[in-house]
Amino acid sequence: MDDAERKMQFLYALRSRGVTNAAVLTAMEQIDRAPFIRGYFAERAYEDMPLPIACGQTISQPSVVGLMTQALEVTPRDTVLEVGTGSGYQAAILSQLARRVYTVDRHPRLVREAREVFDQLGLTNVTAFTADGSFGLPDQAPFDRILVTAAAEDPPGPLLAQLKVGGIMVLPVGQSDAVQHLIRVRRTESGLDYDELRPVRFVPLVEGVARDG
Ligand code: SAH
Repeated sequence: MDDAERKMQFLYALRSRGVTNAAVLTAMEQIDRAPFIRGYFAERAYEDMPLPIACGQTISQPSVVGLMTQALEVTPRDTVLEVGTGSGYQAAILSQLARRVYTVDRHPRLVREAREVFDQLGLTNVTAFTADGSFGLPDQAPFDRILVTAAAEDPPGPLLAQLKVGGIMVLPVGQSDAVQHLIRVRRTESGLDYDELRPVRFVPLVEGVARDG
């Protein structure tokens, strides 16, 4: 199979799993997943599968990236926070749709490697930080959109507090060894509205910054 065919199959798999938003599909067509997967698994970048990355973490399944991005309803004026940089792939997709993207991970190594790929691809509107993302990013807050790509038992309070009125947060909730659900939270003038989107499986949101150099 050549590259063009592989890309067609990749986009076909996204559509058949419910990723229908044209802007999201275009972003996923433009951002190649392979540079975000180092080593052995890079050749499987176009399969609709989660794959292992450094620090025992995983790059999410492309269709899940697409569905989460779609659920976030990003507009070109938005400032977005992503918690759980991982490979940087999801942040790179968001960078095509938003004005500004901040992404945080508790593993310094993942942040360093993701920054390298952002530089390589010339993505200038994404900034990656090492931090415990459960506390959000108080200096950059508030955010129009927040996407969490690790599962918490409940939506972290500081993240809810950093969401603007009219803002949307999408996150997996539930225990790491049980079924988790993707939840969408909207902040309105009068409070928070929740809706449950679909069952998912993510690595857990872990407290504190890791010491992996
Ligand atoms: N969005 C990523 C995949 C995320 S995997 C991608 O596109 O590749 C989940 C990530 O969440 C892991 O890298 C893990 O280190 C990170 N994580 C877990 N708990 C965290 C926390 N409290 N703060 C920041 N990052 C966290």
